[in-house]
Amino acid sequence: MEKHLQHPVFKALANIAKKHNIEAYVIGGYVRDIFLQRPSKDIDIVVLGNGIEFAELAGAQLKAKVAVFKNFGTAMLKLQDLEIEFVGARKESYRSDSRKPIVENGTISDDQLRRDFTINALAISLNEANYGALIDPFNGVEDLYNQLIKTPLDPELTFSDDPLRMMRAIRFASQLNFKIDEPALKAISKQKNRIAIVSKERITDELNKIILSPKPSLGFNYLFDTGLLKLIFPQMANLYGVEVIKGKGHKDNFYHTLQVLDNICETTNDLWLRWAAILHDIAKPATKRFEEGHGWTFHGHEDKGARMVPQIFAQLKLPLNEKMKYVQKLVQLHLRPIVLAQEVVTDSAVRRLLFDAGEDIESLMLLCNADVTTKNEYKVKKYRNNFELVKQKLKDVEERDKIRNWQPPITGNDIMKIFGLGAGKEVGIIKNAIREAILEGDITNTYDDALQFMLLKAKELGLSPVTH
Ligand code: ATP
Repeated sequence: MEKHLQHPVFKALANIAKKHNIEAYVIGGYVRDIFLQRPSKDIDIVVLGNGIEFAELAGAQLKAKVAVFKNFGTAMLKLQDLEIEFVGARKESYRSDSRKPIVENGTISDDQLRRDFTINALAISLNEANYGALIDPFNGVEDLYNQLIKTPLDPELTFSDDPLRMMRAIRFASQLNFKIDEPALKAISKQKNRIAIVSKERITDELNKIILSPKPSLGFNYLFDTGLLKLIFPQMANLYGVEVIKGKGHKDNFYHTLQVLDNICETTNDLWLRWAAILHDIAKPATKRFEEGHGWTFHGHEDKGARMVPQIFAQLKLPLNEKMKYVQKLVQLHLRPIVLAQEVVTDSAVRRLLFDAGEDIESLMLLCNADVTTKNEYKVKKYRNNFELVKQKLKDVEERDKIRNWQPPITGNDIMKIFGLGAGKEVGIIKNAIREAILEGDITNTYDDALQFMLLKAKELGLSPVTH
């Protein structure tokens, strides 16, 4: 493995280890990523002894500042673009009510035994006797080649000790396109309720990593099949299933959602647009009706879905800020381009969509494209074609009318001044009427037209301008 320790820092650390007679190893993700050919900037070093003291020796030698995390017994130093973390080798034991282990000093084998997966337990020696040797007690390299997530210890114990590892197993499987070893998978199903002792933030951290993986359906299928999804995100698990009445079924909205999510992942790495794909049909179970003569309907699922977004974000400890508003807006509007693509597209409908979507129009079009999951090739072609027409029309109307991020030419303040009004309902009525007239194309988007229109409208309300 020596050829993989090209960076001079490894030799420097080896020299410190030799000089002070301390054993040191590179361990974990950095070693795994060598085999996966994913060069990493995060290096974990484990030493037999005090990790913080070793870090301080390294910092002095390498002229780098050391950040010490006393509570964790770890220390970190940054060297160029590398982040090197030091920790003493540990032996861990667990109590049933906490993820926090009881920690004692241990050997390198003890330390490898406390790692979550065989592929994360690989170590490379930095010691003179066997510099560069790979230490792989659980055949992690074989599991890397076989693309398997496996635990070094009995998986039931591994997951019960620290249930976050269940999320990590699924996250690594999704990121790397690996399978979870059958006994480990069974153990997750069995231990799933232990997830209750993990903080929401940690769970959501892993969930977001699954969502950011190349094909998140891999992870979500594991989450669903093990029963974890129902515990951590019940609204999504609720999308599962097909009901049949009078021989008529609807599509399974869980698998449809996964397809939309995988589709959108081919066009964007944006976490929040991916979240919009997950949530676009979230209110379908709550709005589902069987209507005689029609079959299944989900009227208003976009409105209800948008209303569910803040509650879901709060429950998952996702940020309640403009990211949430963006997701909410996309859920709210997700049917609009589809409706446009099915009908004759009028300029006014396009202007309205541009006005409502504003700067998020491209995201919305990506979501709608991803939402086409029919297996019927003819329909797919037809929808995609119509979307192209809608896109062209959006472009034409935008170039002409500049509706995106548009503000009507007369503001509420103007209206108050002209008619000598205080803030009140009349101002809103006039403002809306001007906006509607422009969006409908009844008047042009100019101050003069808007002014004339406003004076007429005000007259209907019995208002006249104040003269100065
Ligand atoms: P990534 O950087 O993609 O998240 P990583 O494996 O480097 O991958 P870290 O969370 O930084 O992830 O963990 C570093 C190492 O610490 C892991 O490779 C693993 O050996 C160990 N580890 C991390 N979390 C746990 C855990 N909950 N239980 C056991 N070992 C863990």
